[in-house]
Amino acid sequence: MFITNGPIAHFILVLCQTNQTIQPSYRGQSIILVEKDAAGFTATDVGEKMGNKMTPTGELSFNDVKVPATNLVGKEGQGFYQALRIFEEIRVEVAAQALGIAQGSFDRALAYVKQRRQFGRKLEDFQATRHKLAELVTKIETARLMVYRAAWGIDQEDIDPKVTSMAKMYATRVALEVADEAIQMHGGYGYMLEYDVERFYRDARIMDIYGGTREIQKNTIASGLLR
Ligand SMILES: Cc1cc2nc3c(=O)[nH]c(=O)nc-3n(C[C@H](O)[C@H](O)[C@H](O)COP(=O)(O)OP(=O)(O)OC[C@H]3O[C@@H](n4cnc5c(N)ncnc54)[C@H](O)[C@@H]3O)c2cc1C
Repeated sequence: MFITNGPIAHFILVLCQTNQTIQPSYRGQSIILVEKDAAGFTATDVGEKMGNKMTPTGELSFNDVKVPATNLVGKEGQGFYQALRIFEEIRVEVAAQALGIAQGSFDRALAYVKQRRQFGRKLEDFQATRHKLAELVTKIETARLMVYRAAWGIDQEDIDPKVTSMAKMYATRVALEVADEAIQMHGGYGYMLEYDVERFYRDARIMDIYGGTREIQKNTIASGLLR
C-alpha cells in the first residue's frame, strides 16, 4: 500500500521472507527484484492525494510471483539490514525536501511582506511581521544544520539513526510551520491556488508521515538514548 511511483515503476525491490524458520525472523529476509511484467504482480494507482501530486502512489499486489534466483539483490538473509540502510538515506532525503519547502515558503513570504501595504504601511514594517520572520528564519537555519549534519554522516558512512531521525522530524515540523505562517502572511491570497505557499503547505504534510512517521522517529531517537 502507498508506494511512491509504484504505478509507473519498471521494477520493484521487495523485502521478502526467504527463510521461514530462522529466529529472529528478520535474519531470514532478503531483497528481491521484481519486474513490473512478472506474472501475478499488479500495481494500482491509489488515487487523488492532498499534495505531492507530482508522483503517483500505488498499491502493489503479489500473487504467487516467481522470479529467477539471479533477482536476489545483495546477499540472502541481509535484506533487513539493507532496508535499514536505505531508510537512513530516505530520512535525510525527506528532511532535505522539507528544508527546501521551508526555505521556499519563507522566500515567498519575505517577498510578499516587502510589497503588500495595509493601514498605510508595508507589512514588513509591522513588528509582529518582523518578529515572525526572525523566528522562522532561525528555525530554518537550525533545520539546515541538522540536515547537513545527517547528510555528512551518510557521506562518511558514520550513520547515527538518532541524527537522521532528528533531522527528518525537525525539518518536517519546521516546513509545516513555515508554510503555515507563509500562508498567514499572505492573508487571503495565501489560500489561493495562484500562490505557491498553499501547495507548499499541502506538499509538506506527507513528510511527517512517509519515510517513517513522526512518532516512529521519536521511537528511534529514544531507542538511541535508552536502548
Ligand atoms: C503519499 C504516500 C506515499 C508513500 N510512499 C511510500 C513508499 O514509497 N514506500 C513505503 O515503504 N511507504 C510509503 N508510504 C507509506 C508510509 O510510509 C506509511 O503510510 C507510514 O509509514 C505510516 O504507516 P501506516 O499508514 O500503516 O500508519 P500506521 O502504522 O497505521 O500509523 C497510524 C498512526 O499510529 C502511529 N503509530 C503506529 N505505530 C506506532 C508506534 N509503535 N508507536 C507510536 N505511534 C505509532 C503512527 O505514527 C501514526 O500516527 C507512503 C504513504 C503515502 C501516504
